[in-house]
Order: sequence, then structure tokens, then C-alpha cells
Amino acid sequence: MRQGRELVVDPVRHASEIAQFFSHVVRGPGQQDCWLWTGAIGTDGYGRFALRRGGWRHAVMVRPPRYALAHAQAGEPLQGDVRALHECDVTLCVRVVTAEEIGAGVRAHVIAGTQQENMEQMVARGRGGGRPAVIARGAGVRARRERALALREAVRSGWDAAAVEAAMLGAQPRLW
Ligand SMILES: [Zn+2]
Repeated sequence: MRQGRELVVDPVRHASEIAQFFSHVVRGPGQQDCWLWTGAIGTDGYGRFALRRGGWRHAVMVRPPRYALAHAQAGEPLQGDVRALHECDVTLCVRVVTAEEIGAGVRAHVIAGTQQENMEQMVARGRGGGRPAVIARGAGVRARRERALALREAVRSGWDAAAVEAAMLGAQPRLW
């Protein structure tokens, strides 16, 4: 994972890559719904999107929410130290809401933040970012992965609201 590198997603130069990215995304029909990544999921329970661009020797794996943030910047570089945070607490979510949508009452999903904010959010939500949760980290990763796989399965043939809800409830992190 190269979370530290600057990422540019240009709407014109990277149009086919963007189309490929969104071919792996299932959008919930509701105004507040998440947009879920249905492509590759790593052993850490986070999504993986492989970038293969001209002039690069190797594919570079990026986390889909980070790619979505860069995409929302329409060609402006996403700096290497910017982290993708989840206000919706769904790690497969790649929805970046626009200012207009926020104005219309849509809640935030993926937002840009700092590493410090990322750690604080993980601690606050019990995702194993802080010292008290270190012992539970293994269980947390397993739970995150289970939840991600269940969610991906729930939308395999389109958004199934009941299946999505069951996947969210059925694979809550079991830390104790
Ligand atoms: Zn979301």
C-alpha cells in the first residue's frame, strides 16, 4: 500500500480508469445511502484498486475511498498525507458528497482528513487505532474483513437493502 504518494485522477486523461473504478461500485438508491466498493478486498478488510498507468513499472494499489477523494478533486492532486475518513463508518464506502448535496441535507460519507484525525476516529469508534484497543486488533481486522465480504456479497447482483442491513448488523466488530 502506498498511502503516502500524491494521487492525481484527471477526468480526461484517466477517463477509462475512472470508468473501470466505478464499474466496481454499487450505489445505494436512497439519498443517504453509501456507494459500496465491490472489487478486490485485501486481508486487512479494505478495498484494493490497482492502478496501471503508462510509464509505471508496476501496478500501484490504492484504497478505493482515497481514489474517490482524488476523483472528486477533478485533476487537482490529492496530497500524500491526506487520509480518507469515513463519516458513515462503512469502510467499503466510496461516496464523496458534493457541496450541493450537503446543502440539500445529504450526510457526509468519505471525507478528507489528517492521519491524526484518522487515529482519533478509529479510537472513538473502536476500530483498533489506540493503545487500549491493541489487544483486540486481530479480532478487529477479522471483523472488518467479514463485514466487508458480507457487504460485497449483499450487493453482488444489485443493491438489496435488506441484505445490506443484515450484513451491517450481522458482522459488527466483536471485540469482547
Ligand atoms: Zn457511506
